[in-house]
Amino acid sequence: MTVRTRADLDQLPAYVAGRTVPGSIKLASNEVSAGPLPSVVETITRAAAEVHRYPDMGATKLTEALADKLHVAPERLAVGCGSVALCEQLVQATCSAEDEVVYPWRSFEAYPIITRVVGARQIPVPLTGEHALDLDAMASAITSRTRLVFVCSPNNPTGPLVRRAELEAFLDRVPSDVLVVLDEAYWEFVSDPEAPDGVEVARARENVASMRTFSKAYGLAGLRVGYTYAPEHVAAALRKVCIPFSVNAVAQAAAVASLEAQDELKERCDSVVSERRRVRDELLGLGYEVPETQANFVWLPLGESTQEFNEHCLDNRVVVRAFVGEGARVTIGRPEENDTFLAAARSYRR
Ligand SMILES: *Cc1c(COP(=O)(O)O)cnc(C)c1O
Repeated sequence: MTVRTRADLDQLPAYVAGRTVPGSIKLASNEVSAGPLPSVVETITRAAAEVHRYPDMGATKLTEALADKLHVAPERLAVGCGSVALCEQLVQATCSAEDEVVYPWRSFEAYPIITRVVGARQIPVPLTGEHALDLDAMASAITSRTRLVFVCSPNNPTGPLVRRAELEAFLDRVPSDVLVVLDEAYWEFVSDPEAPDGVEVARARENVASMRTFSKAYGLAGLRVGYTYAPEHVAAALRKVCIPFSVNAVAQAAAVASLEAQDELKERCDSVVSERRRVRDELLGLGYEVPETQANFVWLPLGESTQEFNEHCLDNRVVVRAFVGEGARVTIGRPEENDTFLAAARSYRR
């Protein structure tokens, strides 16, 4: 006899991480090429000397620093081991077996996996023809079993943002006992003046949470820390389902230091925004379809040519993230990295 694992896990796709190919430029995981914020590295080094101690389980300093920065009550914040852990905690905190989670698709690939692992039902809602969230269809997909809706904005991997008026109209349609989670992993890169601030939206509504991360703009993907601003009882539930000590001490220290380095953050985000514009414009000029993007990546909906494009990029020492049969997501890197990618895009025969 062999040990039995859950039969339903056999149907579960594995999370596909962006590849690292030695000698190639990695534009596959939406990391910032610039590294952690420069002033934070020393804090990380200092924190390393203390790792024989357990971390502060309540992440007190980080929670207070976030509360200060966002002008919110600390009771309404929860930190997690990356926002992907918070995604799981949110589903755990709201769903029992057979409850439904509505999410856009194609979107962040953790949503279906986490939903299934927790035991809830997956309700994916296709994007619009413009590769944006179809909020009308998402609202219509909500049933009496729906407990949670993920709104990924800007949407990973396609790039478009949900604008303020659109979001408010959608939220007006969502029953007040369904939690709407605004996944704002790319918030710091957003430059559209019509973008809603998820924290403001969540402050004004009783069924909305905003989720952000230190992995992307702050450059701490390897340390794993994210946060959620949620209704108070939801934040309390998130802390209950959190694996004890999963937000490590180095991550907590680095996140606090990162919040103090807003000038450095702004400088890098400005550079990503201007490079994003340059890369997209150039791709459009080459005849590629590129949806409008507010994140640190562009999406090329290449359909059946995706695999071929991916291999062409690899031959040119650029690693992109291919979703076979759908498209390629390409992270905005340093200017010279983007130039290498653009050269590959130029030499691709279509
Ligand atoms: C990258 C990403 C996250 C998760 O980031 P963490 O590293 O787990 O904080 C969450 N949501 C979206 C949409 C992402 O792209």
